[in-house]
Amino acid sequence: MKTPKVADLVGIINKIAPLALAEAWDNPGLQIGDPAAEVTRVMVALDPTPDVVDSAISSSSQLLVTHHPLIFKPIKSISAANPLGAIIQKAIKGGLSIITLHTNYDIADGGLNDALARKIGISDSLPLKITSTTELVKLVVFLPVTHLDQMRSALFPFLARQGNYRDCTFATDGTGTFTPLEGAEPFSGAVGHFSKVPEERLELLITAAEVSRAVKALLAAHPYEEPAFDLYPLLNKGTKLGLGRIGRLSESSTLAEYADRLRNVLSAPALRYVGDPNAVISKVALCSGSGASLLRDAARAGADLLVTGDIKYHEAREAEDCGLALIDAGHYPTEIIMVPEMAKRLGQAIVAAGYAGCAVEECRAETDPFRI
Ligand SMILES: [Zn+2]
Repeated sequence: MKTPKVADLVGIINKIAPLALAEAWDNPGLQIGDPAAEVTRVMVALDPTPDVVDSAISSSSQLLVTHHPLIFKPIKSISAANPLGAIIQKAIKGGLSIITLHTNYDIADGGLNDALARKIGISDSLPLKITSTTELVKLVVFLPVTHLDQMRSALFPFLARQGNYRDCTFATDGTGTFTPLEGAEPFSGAVGHFSKVPEERLELLITAAEVSRAVKALLAAHPYEEPAFDLYPLLNKGTKLGLGRIGRLSESSTLAEYADRLRNVLSAPALRYVGDPNAVISKVALCSGSGASLLRDAARAGADLLVTGDIKYHEAREAEDCGLALIDAGHYPTEIIMVPEMAKRLGQAIVAAGYAGCAVEECRAETDPFRI
Protein backbone atom coordinates (compact mmCIF):
# COMPACT_ATOMS: atom_id res chain seq x y z
CA MET A 1 0.00 0.00 0.00
CA LYS A 2 1.32 3.43 -0.87
CA THR A 3 0.96 6.92 0.55
CA PRO A 4 -1.26 9.19 -1.57
CA LYS A 5 0.02 12.33 -3.26
CA VAL A 6 -1.88 15.61 -3.47
CA ALA A 7 -2.91 14.71 -7.05
CA ASP A 8 -4.36 11.38 -5.83
CA LEU A 9 -6.43 13.26 -3.24
CA VAL A 10 -7.63 15.69 -5.92
CA GLY A 11 -8.96 12.61 -7.78
CA ILE A 12 -10.55 11.10 -4.65
CA ILE A 13 -12.24 14.40 -3.70
CA ASN A 14 -13.43 14.84 -7.28
CA LYS A 15 -15.42 11.63 -6.89
CA ILE A 16 -17.12 12.94 -3.73
CA ALA A 17 -17.67 16.46 -5.11
CA PRO A 18 -17.09 16.49 -8.90
CA LEU A 19 -15.64 19.81 -10.06
CA ALA A 20 -17.91 19.69 -13.11
CA LEU A 21 -20.92 20.26 -10.82
CA ALA A 22 -19.70 23.66 -9.57
CA GLU A 23 -21.55 26.82 -10.57
CA ALA A 24 -19.88 28.79 -13.39
CA TRP A 25 -18.89 31.68 -11.05
CA ASP A 26 -17.30 29.37 -8.50
CA ASN A 27 -13.64 28.40 -8.08
CA PRO A 28 -13.18 25.04 -6.32
CA GLY A 29 -10.22 22.67 -6.75
CA LEU A 30 -6.50 22.62 -5.90
CA GLN A 31 -5.81 26.27 -5.07
CA ILE A 32 -2.33 26.03 -3.56
CA GLY A 33 0.23 23.25 -3.56
CA ASP A 34 2.27 20.63 -5.31
CA PRO A 35 0.32 17.79 -6.96
CA ALA A 36 3.39 15.52 -6.54
CA ALA A 37 3.74 16.06 -2.76
CA GLU A 38 3.05 13.07 -0.50
CA VAL A 39 0.26 13.44 2.05
CA THR A 40 0.34 11.62 5.40
CA ARG A 41 -2.09 13.96 7.19
CA VAL A 42 -5.13 15.89 5.93
CA MET A 43 -7.09 18.49 7.87
CA VAL A 44 -10.71 19.34 7.00
CA ALA A 45 -12.22 22.76 7.84
CA LEU A 46 -15.00 25.09 6.73
CA ASP A 47 -12.89 28.21 6.06
CA PRO A 48 -9.20 28.66 5.12
CA THR A 49 -8.64 31.33 7.79
CA PRO A 50 -5.16 32.20 9.16
CA ASP A 51 -5.98 30.26 12.38
CA VAL A 52 -7.04 27.20 10.39
CA VAL A 53 -3.91 27.30 8.21
CA ASP A 54 -1.75 27.65 11.39
CA SER A 55 -3.57 24.72 12.95
CA ALA A 56 -3.03 22.54 9.84
CA ILE A 57 0.68 23.37 9.65
CA SER A 58 1.26 22.86 13.38
CA SER A 59 -0.44 19.46 13.25
CA SER A 60 1.97 18.48 10.41
CA SER A 61 -0.80 18.25 7.78
CA GLN A 62 0.38 18.52 4.20
CA LEU A 63 -3.14 19.11 2.88
CA LEU A 64 -6.01 21.30 4.03
CA VAL A 65 -9.48 20.65 2.56
CA THR A 66 -11.99 23.47 3.11
CA HIS A 67 -15.55 24.08 1.98
CA HIS A 68 -15.08 27.76 1.15
CA PRO A 69 -12.52 28.77 -1.49
CA LEU A 70 -9.44 30.75 -0.46
CA ILE A 71 -8.87 32.30 -3.89
CA PHE A 72 -12.13 33.45 -5.37
CA LYS A 73 -11.46 36.42 -7.66
CA PRO A 74 -8.32 36.84 -9.81
CA ILE A 75 -5.48 38.25 -7.66
CA LYS A 76 -2.85 40.71 -8.85
CA SER A 77 -0.15 40.10 -6.26
CA ILE A 78 0.78 37.72 -3.44
CA SER A 79 2.05 40.13 -0.82
CA ALA A 80 2.33 39.28 2.87
CA ALA A 81 1.06 42.83 3.43
CA ASN A 82 -2.50 41.78 2.57
CA PRO A 83 -4.52 39.07 4.37
CA LEU A 84 -4.95 36.73 1.38
CA GLY A 85 -1.31 37.03 0.31
CA ALA A 86 -0.20 36.32 3.89
CA ILE A 87 -2.29 33.11 4.03
CA ILE A 88 -0.92 31.96 0.65
CA GLN A 89 2.69 32.60 1.76
CA LYS A 90 2.09 30.90 5.09
CA ALA A 91 0.68 27.77 3.38
CA ILE A 92 3.51 27.55 0.84
CA LYS A 93 6.22 28.07 3.49
CA GLY A 94 4.53 25.44 5.69
CA GLY A 95 4.42 22.88 2.85
CA LEU A 96 0.61 22.93 2.98
CA SER A 97 -1.51 22.32 -0.11
CA ILE A 98 -5.10 23.60 -0.10
CA ILE A 99 -8.01 21.99 -1.92
CA THR A 100 -11.33 23.79 -1.68
CA LEU A 101 -14.83 22.56 -2.39
CA HIS A 102 -17.91 24.78 -2.59
CA THR A 103 -20.95 24.61 -4.89
CA ASN A 104 -19.72 21.25 -6.27
CA TYR A 105 -20.08 19.81 -2.74
CA ASP A 106 -23.37 21.70 -2.13
CA ILE A 107 -24.83 20.13 -5.28
CA ALA A 108 -23.20 16.65 -5.19
CA ASP A 109 -25.33 13.61 -4.49
CA GLY A 110 -24.47 12.80 -0.86
CA GLY A 111 -22.91 16.26 -0.42
CA LEU A 112 -23.44 19.04 2.10
CA ASN A 113 -27.15 19.60 1.48
CA ASP A 114 -27.90 15.90 1.84
CA ALA A 115 -25.97 15.94 5.13
CA LEU A 116 -27.98 18.98 6.27
CA ALA A 117 -31.27 17.31 5.24
CA ARG A 118 -30.40 14.25 7.35
CA LYS A 119 -29.35 16.42 10.27
CA ILE A 120 -32.62 18.37 10.33
CA GLY A 121 -34.87 15.33 9.92
CA ILE A 122 -35.84 15.62 6.23
CA SER A 123 -36.25 12.29 4.48
CA ASP A 124 -36.39 11.37 0.76
CA SER A 125 -35.09 14.77 -0.24
CA LEU A 126 -34.69 15.84 -3.88
CA PRO A 127 -32.77 18.80 -5.36
CA LEU A 128 -34.69 22.08 -5.07
CA LYS A 129 -33.20 23.80 -8.14
CA ILE A 130 -31.82 21.50 -10.86
CA THR A 131 -28.41 22.66 -12.14
CA SER A 132 -27.23 19.58 -14.02
CA THR A 133 -28.34 16.23 -15.33
CA THR A 134 -25.86 13.40 -15.72
CA GLU A 135 -25.06 12.38 -19.33
CA LEU A 136 -25.44 8.64 -19.78
CA VAL A 137 -23.60 6.24 -22.10
CA LYS A 138 -24.52 2.61 -22.78
CA LEU A 139 -21.53 0.28 -22.72
CA VAL A 140 -21.96 -3.10 -24.43
CA VAL A 141 -19.23 -5.74 -24.29
CA PHE A 142 -19.10 -9.18 -25.92
CA LEU A 143 -17.17 -11.88 -24.08
CA PRO A 144 -16.99 -15.60 -23.24
CA VAL A 145 -19.50 -16.71 -20.60
CA THR A 146 -16.58 -17.87 -18.40
CA HIS A 147 -15.54 -14.24 -17.91
CA LEU A 148 -18.98 -12.69 -17.34
CA ASP A 149 -18.79 -12.39 -13.53
CA GLN A 150 -15.23 -11.08 -13.68
CA MET A 151 -16.27 -8.40 -16.18
CA ARG A 152 -19.32 -7.38 -14.12
CA SER A 153 -17.14 -6.96 -11.01
CA ALA A 154 -14.60 -4.91 -12.95
CA LEU A 155 -17.31 -2.57 -14.25
CA PHE A 156 -19.50 -2.25 -11.13
CA PRO A 157 -17.56 0.77 -9.76
CA PHE A 158 -18.37 2.76 -12.93
CA LEU A 159 -22.09 2.03 -13.30
CA ALA A 160 -24.59 4.88 -13.13
CA ARG A 161 -27.08 4.56 -10.29
CA GLN A 162 -30.65 4.09 -11.48
CA GLY A 163 -32.87 5.75 -8.86
CA ASN A 164 -32.40 3.75 -5.68
CA TYR A 165 -30.72 0.84 -7.53
CA ARG A 166 -27.08 0.19 -8.26
CA ASP A 167 -25.16 -2.64 -10.00
CA CYS A 168 -27.78 -2.78 -12.82
CA THR A 169 -26.62 -4.87 -15.83
CA PHE A 170 -28.24 -7.08 -18.47
CA ALA A 171 -26.73 -10.10 -20.25
CA THR A 172 -27.92 -12.19 -23.19
CA ASP A 173 -26.49 -15.33 -24.86
CA GLY A 174 -25.34 -15.27 -28.45
CA THR A 175 -22.76 -16.53 -30.90
CA GLY A 176 -19.58 -14.71 -31.86
CA THR A 177 -17.58 -15.44 -35.01
CA PHE A 178 -14.01 -14.62 -36.02
CA THR A 179 -11.05 -15.88 -38.02
CA PRO A 180 -7.67 -15.19 -36.35
CA LEU A 181 -5.12 -13.89 -38.88
CA GLU A 182 -1.35 -14.43 -39.02
CA GLY A 183 0.30 -12.95 -35.91
CA ALA A 184 -2.80 -13.35 -33.73
CA GLU A 185 -2.66 -15.21 -30.42
CA PRO A 186 -6.35 -16.06 -29.97
CA PHE A 187 -7.88 -16.89 -26.57
CA SER A 188 -9.82 -19.67 -28.38
CA GLY A 189 -9.73 -21.05 -31.95
CA ALA A 190 -6.71 -21.24 -34.23
CA VAL A 191 -4.98 -18.99 -36.78
CA GLY A 192 -6.56 -19.28 -40.23
CA HIS A 193 -9.65 -21.16 -38.98
CA PHE A 194 -13.16 -19.72 -38.86
CA SER A 195 -14.48 -19.93 -35.26
CA LYS A 196 -18.03 -19.83 -33.91
CA VAL A 197 -18.11 -19.48 -30.14
CA PRO A 198 -20.84 -19.01 -27.51
CA GLU A 199 -20.54 -15.50 -26.07
CA GLU A 200 -22.42 -13.14 -23.78
CA ARG A 201 -23.52 -9.62 -24.59
CA LEU A 202 -23.26 -7.61 -21.35
CA GLU A 203 -24.82 -4.16 -21.35
CA LEU A 204 -24.88 -1.46 -18.72
CA LEU A 205 -25.17 2.29 -18.18
CA ILE A 206 -22.27 4.49 -17.16
CA THR A 207 -22.00 8.25 -16.78
CA ALA A 208 -20.13 10.05 -19.58
CA ALA A 209 -17.51 11.18 -17.05
CA GLU A 210 -16.59 7.54 -16.31
CA VAL A 211 -16.15 6.34 -19.92
CA SER A 212 -12.35 6.35 -20.10
CA ARG A 213 -11.88 4.68 -16.71
CA ALA A 214 -14.57 2.09 -17.46
CA VAL A 215 -12.99 1.22 -20.83
CA LYS A 216 -9.59 0.83 -19.15
CA ALA A 217 -11.13 -1.57 -16.58
CA LEU A 218 -12.94 -3.44 -19.39
CA LEU A 219 -9.73 -3.95 -21.37
CA ALA A 220 -7.95 -5.22 -18.24
CA ALA A 221 -10.71 -7.74 -17.44
CA HIS A 222 -11.34 -9.01 -21.02
CA PRO A 223 -9.57 -12.23 -22.06
CA TYR A 224 -9.49 -11.43 -25.82
CA GLU A 225 -6.63 -9.78 -27.69
CA GLU A 226 -9.17 -7.57 -29.46
CA PRO A 227 -12.12 -7.06 -27.09
CA ALA A 228 -15.36 -6.17 -28.90
CA PHE A 229 -17.30 -3.40 -27.20
CA ASP A 230 -19.59 -0.51 -28.16
CA LEU A 231 -20.27 2.88 -26.56
CA TYR A 232 -23.67 4.40 -27.33
CA PRO A 233 -24.49 8.02 -26.41
CA LEU A 234 -28.04 8.14 -25.02
CA LEU A 235 -30.87 10.65 -25.13
CA ASN A 236 -32.23 9.54 -21.76
CA LYS A 237 -30.68 11.43 -18.87
CA GLY A 238 -29.30 10.26 -15.54
CA THR A 239 -29.59 11.65 -12.05
CA LYS A 240 -30.81 15.21 -11.70
CA LEU A 241 -28.56 17.24 -9.41
CA GLY A 242 -28.96 20.74 -8.06
CA LEU A 243 -28.87 23.36 -5.34
CA GLY A 244 -30.79 22.95 -2.10
CA ARG A 245 -33.07 20.06 -1.21
CA ILE A 246 -36.77 19.57 -0.59
CA GLY A 247 -38.40 16.77 1.36
CA ARG A 248 -40.73 15.94 4.22
CA LEU A 249 -40.48 15.83 7.98
CA SER A 250 -41.22 12.38 9.37
CA GLU A 251 -43.68 14.10 11.75
CA SER A 252 -45.29 17.48 11.17
CA SER A 253 -44.43 20.15 13.69
CA THR A 254 -45.28 23.78 14.34
CA LEU A 255 -42.83 26.34 13.02
CA ALA A 256 -41.85 27.42 16.56
CA GLU A 257 -41.24 23.82 17.72
CA TYR A 258 -39.23 22.98 14.62
CA ALA A 259 -37.14 26.16 14.94
CA ASP A 260 -36.31 25.17 18.51
CA ARG A 261 -35.37 21.66 17.39
CA LEU A 262 -33.04 23.06 14.68
CA ARG A 263 -31.32 25.34 17.16
CA ASN A 264 -30.41 22.21 19.13
CA VAL A 265 -29.40 19.86 16.30
CA LEU A 266 -27.31 22.55 14.59
CA SER A 267 -25.84 23.81 17.88
CA ALA A 268 -26.83 27.32 16.80
CA PRO A 269 -26.57 29.90 19.61
CA ALA A 270 -29.76 31.50 18.24
CA LEU A 271 -31.81 31.54 15.08
CA ARG A 272 -34.42 33.80 13.52
CA TYR A 273 -37.57 32.77 11.78
CA VAL A 274 -40.27 34.33 9.62
CA GLY A 275 -43.89 33.16 9.71
CA ASP A 276 -46.67 32.16 12.06
CA PRO A 277 -45.14 30.27 15.04
CA ASN A 278 -48.20 27.98 15.10
CA ALA A 279 -48.13 27.17 11.36
CA VAL A 280 -47.89 23.42 10.71
CA ILE A 281 -44.72 22.47 8.85
CA SER A 282 -44.37 19.22 6.92
CA LYS A 283 -42.75 19.97 3.53
CA VAL A 284 -39.33 21.57 4.05
CA ALA A 285 -36.86 23.11 1.59
CA LEU A 286 -33.29 23.74 2.70
CA CYS A 287 -30.07 25.25 1.41
CA SER A 288 -26.86 25.35 3.44
CA GLY A 289 -25.07 28.71 3.72
CA SER A 290 -26.81 31.52 1.81
CA GLY A 291 -29.93 30.17 0.12
CA ALA A 292 -32.44 33.01 0.17
CA SER A 293 -32.13 33.19 -3.65
CA LEU A 294 -34.04 29.85 -3.68
CA LEU A 295 -37.00 31.37 -1.85
CA ARG A 296 -39.28 31.43 -4.90
CA ASP A 297 -38.17 27.94 -6.00
CA ALA A 298 -39.14 26.67 -2.53
CA ALA A 299 -42.54 28.41 -2.67
CA ARG A 300 -43.21 27.09 -6.20
CA ALA A 301 -42.31 23.55 -5.08
CA GLY A 302 -44.98 23.78 -2.37
CA ALA A 303 -42.61 23.96 0.62
CA ASP A 304 -44.07 25.19 3.91
CA LEU A 305 -40.63 26.35 5.02
CA LEU A 306 -37.14 27.18 3.71
CA VAL A 307 -34.23 26.57 6.10
CA THR A 308 -31.06 28.49 5.20
CA GLY A 309 -28.73 31.25 6.46
CA ASP A 310 -27.90 34.88 5.68
CA ILE A 311 -31.49 36.05 5.18
CA LYS A 312 -31.92 39.81 4.61
CA TYR A 313 -34.88 41.97 5.66
CA HIS A 314 -36.44 42.32 2.19
CA GLU A 315 -36.10 38.58 1.58
CA ALA A 316 -38.06 38.02 4.81
CA ARG A 317 -40.77 40.34 3.48
CA GLU A 318 -40.77 38.51 0.13
CA ALA A 319 -41.24 35.17 1.93
CA GLU A 320 -44.21 36.64 3.83
CA ASP A 321 -45.71 37.68 0.49
CA CYS A 322 -45.25 34.10 -0.85
CA GLY A 323 -46.75 32.53 2.29
CA LEU A 324 -43.46 30.72 2.89
CA ALA A 325 -41.97 30.37 6.37
CA LEU A 326 -38.21 30.92 6.74
CA ILE A 327 -35.70 29.79 9.31
CA ASP A 328 -32.35 31.60 9.28
CA ALA A 329 -30.16 29.13 11.15
CA GLY A 330 -26.97 30.96 10.14
CA HIS A 331 -24.33 30.33 7.49
CA TYR A 332 -21.84 28.73 9.89
CA PRO A 333 -24.24 26.35 11.73
CA THR A 334 -25.69 25.04 8.44
CA GLU A 335 -22.23 24.44 6.92
CA ILE A 336 -19.87 23.54 9.78
CA ILE A 337 -21.50 20.08 9.68
CA MET A 338 -19.40 19.40 6.55
CA VAL A 339 -16.24 19.05 8.68
CA PRO A 340 -16.98 15.73 10.45
CA GLU A 341 -18.90 14.49 7.39
CA MET A 342 -16.07 15.17 4.90
CA ALA A 343 -13.34 13.97 7.29
CA LYS A 344 -15.12 10.62 7.66
CA ARG A 345 -15.89 10.19 3.95
CA LEU A 346 -12.42 11.24 2.86
CA GLY A 347 -10.78 8.84 5.33
CA GLN A 348 -12.91 5.97 4.02
CA ALA A 349 -12.37 6.93 0.36
CA ILE A 350 -8.56 7.03 0.82
CA VAL A 351 -8.58 3.49 2.23
CA ALA A 352 -11.03 2.28 -0.44
CA ALA A 353 -8.71 3.65 -3.14
CA GLY A 354 -5.92 1.43 -1.78
CA TYR A 355 -3.79 4.04 0.00
CA ALA A 356 -2.40 3.78 3.52
CA GLY A 357 -0.54 5.95 6.01
CA CYS A 358 -2.77 9.00 5.48
CA ALA A 359 -4.79 10.25 8.45
CA VAL A 360 -7.69 12.70 8.12
CA GLU A 361 -8.59 14.95 11.04
CA GLU A 362 -11.21 17.59 11.75
CA CYS A 363 -10.03 21.13 12.41
CA ARG A 364 -10.88 22.28 15.96
CA ALA A 365 -9.72 25.88 15.46
CA GLU A 366 -12.94 27.27 13.94
CA THR A 367 -15.73 29.30 15.49
CA ASP A 368 -18.72 31.18 14.08
CA PRO A 369 -17.66 34.80 13.48
CA PHE A 370 -21.10 35.92 14.72
CA ARG A 371 -21.65 36.10 18.46
CA ILE A 372 -25.00 36.59 20.20
ZN1 LIG B 1 -20.97 28.87 2.55
